[in-house]
Amino acid sequence: MTLKELSEILLPNVEHDRKYYEELYPERNLPEGAIVTRYAPSPTGFVHMGALYQSYISSKMAHQTGGIFFLRIEDTDQKREVENSVEMILKDLKDFGFNPDEGVTLDGEKGNYGPYTQSKRKDIYQAFARDLIEKGLAYPCFLSEDDEKEIRDQQARVKARIGIYGDWARSRFLTTEQVLEKINNGEEYVIRLKSDGNFNNKITVKDCIKGNIEMPENDIDVVIIKSDGLPTYHFAHAVDDHLMHTTHVIRGDEWVSSLPTHIALFKAIGVKPPKYAHIAPISKIENGNHRKLSKRKDPEAAVSYYSKLGIPKEAVKIYLATVANSNFERWFDANPNADINDFKMEFSKMSRSDSLFDQEKLYNISRNYISKLPATVVYDSALEYAKEYDHELEELLVKYKDYSIAIYNIERERKKPRKDYIMYSDIKNQTWYMYDELFNPEELEYEFANINDSEEIKKILKLYLEKYYNEEDDESTWFNRMKELSDELGYASDMKAYRENPDAYKGNVADVSIVLRVALTSKAQTPNLYNLMSLLGKDRIAKRYNYFIQK
Ligand code: GLU
Repeated sequence: MTLKELSEILLPNVEHDRKYYEELYPERNLPEGAIVTRYAPSPTGFVHMGALYQSYISSKMAHQTGGIFFLRIEDTDQKREVENSVEMILKDLKDFGFNPDEGVTLDGEKGNYGPYTQSKRKDIYQAFARDLIEKGLAYPCFLSEDDEKEIRDQQARVKARIGIYGDWARSRFLTTEQVLEKINNGEEYVIRLKSDGNFNNKITVKDCIKGNIEMPENDIDVVIIKSDGLPTYHFAHAVDDHLMHTTHVIRGDEWVSSLPTHIALFKAIGVKPPKYAHIAPISKIENGNHRKLSKRKDPEAAVSYYSKLGIPKEAVKIYLATVANSNFERWFDANPNADINDFKMEFSKMSRSDSLFDQEKLYNISRNYISKLPATVVYDSALEYAKEYDHELEELLVKYKDYSIAIYNIERERKKPRKDYIMYSDIKNQTWYMYDELFNPEELEYEFANINDSEEIKKILKLYLEKYYNEEDDESTWFNRMKELSDELGYASDMKAYRENPDAYKGNVADVSIVLRVALTSKAQTPNLYNLMSLLGKDRIAKRYNYFIQK
């Protein structure tokens, strides 16, 4: 029996051969220097910062060269699959603008190198596995779990390296007759690579980020097709990235240790491996040790966590860019109004070791980012946020559009704008008192300060309304009137005079203005009081002050 015939018995029902697939997926026709990258997640749940970071780098590196970024779903481990993961991945990629040019999309697949979901590529992997069997580079292995355990125990006893290699790979030595007999007996089998590597040889892989990595050559007969007929990650990676003509495999550095396996698989298949760029993870400190952000343990690392808070996607992107390239921050400081897509990302500027996830930094970036937006954009974004997460806010924003924009415009669009909002969920917390619907004096705690005697407060508010408040005043007149009010009631209108002789006064104009501010908003800290008063208008000011006067 020829090996070809054997391969057909081992992997029956394979529709096409390797040659067919090689022809189906020809070289890509791309401009000089264009690179092809992919994001290849397993559908195991929500997208977290680390995954978003990888997809950002992959899409950016491809797009800045005029290349292709595609999305491949790696679902050959069906036990680990979580429902709706693919939809979540697609939504996040879309929201952040890391749009794949090819691959799985919400309405099917796009591109000429598909299918892009591994479970739909069984025939392809089996065609390649048959080819390897035919060439004597792969073989069926009948070791049961118990056999493997026994081998491991024996290896531990004689202090040998653990694994199925060399003489330990017992099924390697079966004759064709023995193989056929086992198949006839219904014994389960996997297909393994017949490694010709030597563990004492060194291989060197030039990683785009980590530089030269020297490792022992692979001599393990790794499984390429599992007993369910699906490929292992390793084999699928080699076959897919070969057929999809990936030029750069950008992935997490937990895969570095698999490089010898992957290099061996590409060698067996007989094609040049792609370039590798292993990204150091985003991690956190736990019990004094660094560990990679984890889907399971760190819900605060989920991308959706930040969407719910209303952190703008752009801010997350800026944060990820600062993590990705050491020179990004300098570039961004020098070009504060540039589109960050214009930044040229480089592998050589990526960190070789992990970066700690810095939530404070993300928040700071976000605060600065929002502070620089025009008020109309803040409004649109807040509304978009509110539609999904806060219907009360949504109603107010719809009802009072121009008014809300005017609130956001206070002390904005200037060299040093106010920085009240870190995230869109802050907006309600910072502006609620501007809406009567949310302003109920009975339920409020007023933050009065130096002046907190209710009679004195009444007196100030009454006199202000009767004599000094005039809706038409410009800001400096308005302020002068507050000084006059202070003088009349025995508070110093001149701070210098007050500091020189504090005992001569009941207090000063700042104390008076706090009363006016707190009685109006309940808060001691607000944006410019003159602007707030102009927006709230005469009737509302009178109503809010009368609440105290009549009490
Ligand atoms: N499916 C693998 C993962 O989830 C992909 C690794 C790769 O990019 O090659 O990590």
